[in-house]
Amino acid sequence: MNANFLQTPIDYLKGVGPNRADLLKKELGIHTFQDLLNLFPNRYLDRTQYYKIAQFQQTNAEVQIIGKITHIKTVEQKRGKRLVATFIDETGTMELVWFRGQKWIRENLKLNVPYVIFGKTNYFNGSFSMPHPEMELLEAHEKSIRSAMQPVYPSTEKLGNSGITNRVINGLMQQLFLESKNAFAETLSKPLLEQLKLVSKKEALFNIHFPKSQAHLARAQYRLKFEELFYIQLQLIRKNLIHKSKIKGHTFDKIGHNFNTFYSQHLPFELTEAQKRVIKEIRNDLGSNAQMNRLLQGDVGSGKTIVAFMSMLIALDNGFQACLMAPTEILSVQHYNGLFEMCNKLNTSIELLTGSTKTSKRKEIHEKLENGELDILIGTHALLEDKVKFKNLGLAIVDEQHRFGVEQRSKLWHKGGPSGEVGGAIPPHILVMTATPIPRTLAMSIYGDLDISVIDELPPGRKDIKTVHRFDANRLKVFRFIKDEISKGRQVYIVYPLIQESETMDYKDLMDGYESIVREFPMPKYQVSIVHGQMKPADKEYEMNRFIKGETQIMVATTVIEVGVNVPNASVMIIESAERFGLSQLHQLRGRVGRGAEQSYCILMTGHKLSADAKTRLETMVRTSDGFEIAEVDLKLRGPGDLMGTQQSGVLNLRIADIVKDSEILKIARSYAAQTLKAYPNLTSKENIPIKNTYAQLVKYRNIWNYIS
Ligand code: ADP
Ligand code: MG
Repeated sequence: MNANFLQTPIDYLKGVGPNRADLLKKELGIHTFQDLLNLFPNRYLDRTQYYKIAQFQQTNAEVQIIGKITHIKTVEQKRGKRLVATFIDETGTMELVWFRGQKWIRENLKLNVPYVIFGKTNYFNGSFSMPHPEMELLEAHEKSIRSAMQPVYPSTEKLGNSGITNRVINGLMQQLFLESKNAFAETLSKPLLEQLKLVSKKEALFNIHFPKSQAHLARAQYRLKFEELFYIQLQLIRKNLIHKSKIKGHTFDKIGHNFNTFYSQHLPFELTEAQKRVIKEIRNDLGSNAQMNRLLQGDVGSGKTIVAFMSMLIALDNGFQACLMAPTEILSVQHYNGLFEMCNKLNTSIELLTGSTKTSKRKEIHEKLENGELDILIGTHALLEDKVKFKNLGLAIVDEQHRFGVEQRSKLWHKGGPSGEVGGAIPPHILVMTATPIPRTLAMSIYGDLDISVIDELPPGRKDIKTVHRFDANRLKVFRFIKDEISKGRQVYIVYPLIQESETMDYKDLMDGYESIVREFPMPKYQVSIVHGQMKPADKEYEMNRFIKGETQIMVATTVIEVGVNVPNASVMIIESAERFGLSQLHQLRGRVGRGAEQSYCILMTGHKLSADAKTRLETMVRTSDGFEIAEVDLKLRGPGDLMGTQQSGVLNLRIADIVKDSEILKIARSYAAQTLKAYPNLTSKENIPIKNTYAQLVKYRNIWNYIS
């Protein structure tokens, strides 16, 4: 078939006039025949299965049942009447309910005659009901002919109101298949189809729109999901390969004085195996002539900082500068303080640049950066200001990268410094670090063009944090526990949800909480700090420092303390209204304790009313402290759209595949995409012709860019 056929504007399909064309474009983004063909049904009404009442699940699914009506009655309610019929089969009883058209229904329904009914079930107070079922006498049902699996297409209110119903879309689809004679070109290579036993494109398209059976549909879906994920992965891997071959990086082939001295004399502890492995991976990248673009994932407390520091030392050994950017002032200061001592021992220079750095100091830093006196710069996004110019920045590290936007990160690229620009702007190597574990499957899709390192091991001797869930009613016991811990010299965090810093409700909760804590823990015996987002940075820092120094025993705070803060003497984390936090946030908060030698505790406080999801979150927290396991649960609960970083990546506008449910297919697709490109980086082989053509089309019509920003 003529490849251009599918690019025909939708206006030219029989049955689509200018009005419909307009609506299809606006409401569903359908501009061409191809777009219509790729409008896959959301779901199918399965009229092949008959359920028994006893088999119903509380899923609101559509079901088809054979049974009889035994009674009909009209029930008066506040607003109008409803008609309720008792419907039975040999396994149980349910109710059919009508709010509209009651008179007609009452007159026409037959009692004690077998019916086939179809519709959504609701579950309430231990029994099931079905509002406005589709009904047909069993006798008539057996004689009628219909496609057993009816596709339901995505729609919008406007489409429905304008008469473009599901039935109309279905008709247009039939017309499209008629005109094309189902002669759709294959888009995968023969070896792929054979190895993976995939059905042809033709067959897949036909069965996705007009499934002959569940089995046909399943094969069609598998093939199309694979194809969708395959091309995304092909794109991502190709981007990575091109990046490596095109974007030159500084080659850091020396491991010299700084690294060696630190490693042999000043390393404060033995590195974990995972840390060693990751440092090796980074060393390899830095030593090659390609620019490093690596994501380092490691759970809270897994020891990413030392890895970052040692990577910076490699840059220094090769005559370059390095910088480390953190999302908050508090965190930058902590990094600076931690690394300052080590730098002193090595005789390397290090400075801190944040929003509150004094002008004179700022000037001094700018100068030293430009003339090369300064080796390492730590700071907040103040580092990104245009005035900050490096002599030769070789490595830029971003901590807690999900807190930064994409543009902020890309700004670092252009900080290479004048010496980097010789011979065509060599950007610094980039290492981004995150403590928000991203399940592997998701990472593959969002960061498919980055290389990924994982620290999957905590330093030895960490005590597990005892995590419990307590109801608000037990608050007094919790207070007693806090007092015990404080009397042993420990410190305590009490965190309130302030999801939106501007929400006055939350703010009031926090202040009420603070007041009741101060009442319960009075001065002078107790000192209580408070930190929240509406405070001035200087005040925040002042309070934070009092807590760090141990002058206050209790820190009442919002999630501003979530990221990175390190107070080893704090051993209790109380999270108020824990049901309102997401899993990854709970995990991050818990990571604030368990940093010292003492047994640490995390207490999740909630009211009695909990949703099913909230229960799962709390149970997960109590059960495990493995960040990756928690991330997997989170992904299942929330779906990928809500996970950090994914919103901006746009990777989730998938047409048919589902990153969570289809993670197995994703792995296979990725591995085949990698193999394909490994054999033929430019897809130049006869068998790859369909792939090459499809890929070119996807790029040409920008379909693939919808996925990847
Ligand atoms: P994160 O990955 O959360 O940034 P940090 O780098 O802040 O973790 O490390 C957490 C703590 O663990 C720090 O006090 C650090 O000194 C310590 N640490 C890191 N690596 C090791 C190790 N291999 N052995 C013992 N302690 C370690
Ligand atoms: Mg850290």
